Amino acid sequence: MTASDPSALRNNMQQFNTFAEMQLQVRNWKRSGATIGVVPTMGALHAGHLSLIEIAQKQVDRVIATIFVNPTQFAPQEDLGQYPRTLADDLKQLRTLGTDAVFVPANEEVYPPDFSTFVDPPRVSLEWEGAIRPIHFRGVATVVLKLLNGTQADLAVFGQKDFQQAAVIKAMVRDLNHPCEILVAPIFREPSGLAMSSRNRYLSSVERTRAGAIYQAILAARAKFSEHPSGTLSADELETLMREHLRAGGITDIDYIALVDPDSLQRLDCLTNPTAVLVAVRVGSTRLIDNDILSL
Ligand code: AMP
Repeated sequence: MTASDPSALRNNMQQFNTFAEMQLQVRNWKRSGATIGVVPTMGALHAGHLSLIEIAQKQVDRVIATIFVNPTQFAPQEDLGQYPRTLADDLKQLRTLGTDAVFVPANEEVYPPDFSTFVDPPRVSLEWEGAIRPIHFRGVATVVLKLLNGTQADLAVFGQKDFQQAAVIKAMVRDLNHPCEILVAPIFREPSGLAMSSRNRYLSSVERTRAGAIYQAILAARAKFSEHPSGTLSADELETLMREHLRAGGITDIDYIALVDPDSLQRLDCLTNPTAVLVAVRVGSTRLIDNDILSL
């Protein structure tokens, strides 16, 4: 292996565990004129996460991945304790991709004992996930702001997979005049159409097959939507159709099917072009979310 061998460079990923070390590296990069991108994750990385890194690499000179399972976005009854942690494998995948740095802070680094400042999340956080998980977006907004500040990134890439989360972050950055640009990347799916998620590993093989019905319901929604001129299809009609597809595939535990304006996330009665469809269901004990933008 020589210094000019690209695979040698790929092994050069640096790991930082404190904000001070991370910021020092970023200052050095910025001093040499480099632009910085960040991809925040909770680890247990899959191809969906890696697609965000690749998108960031095309836009900026240096890409930082962050791995932090953020306790403040989990309610006490949620799966914080069971959330998959696969750090060694995550680091290997990031290194293979040529990620420049990974930031892996401990809980006490992000939330020291005297920590007491939280972001009051924007209006788009109130419904859907926010209604079912009331403290979730407060925790998300707070940790994302800390990571944007900690990395001083010019660009942050988030997945459309978490549609409402991306809307919350875009609104927060806009409302607080944060200079970081937010890019929302497409949903990366398994061959079955199931959106990739760290939580998919909780699914048994029977449940995984059943979870495929989510994408079937989305495909049915796309087809129905495309048959109607804007403003002529009711949300109720499309929701009923999607429920039928979910039920036919064995999914009966539906938290919500929301047909909403893609910007405000407000429920629509009559569907406009475009319309966002947000889906949250439970398959066994695993909660899965998915979404799509319906457009003509
Ligand atoms: P998480 O580790 O679940 O917090 O996700 C970290 C980032 O990856 C978030 O911006 C997610 O929206 C994004 N992400 C998760 N799953 C996917 C996927 N299947 N396709 C694209 N992005 C994803």
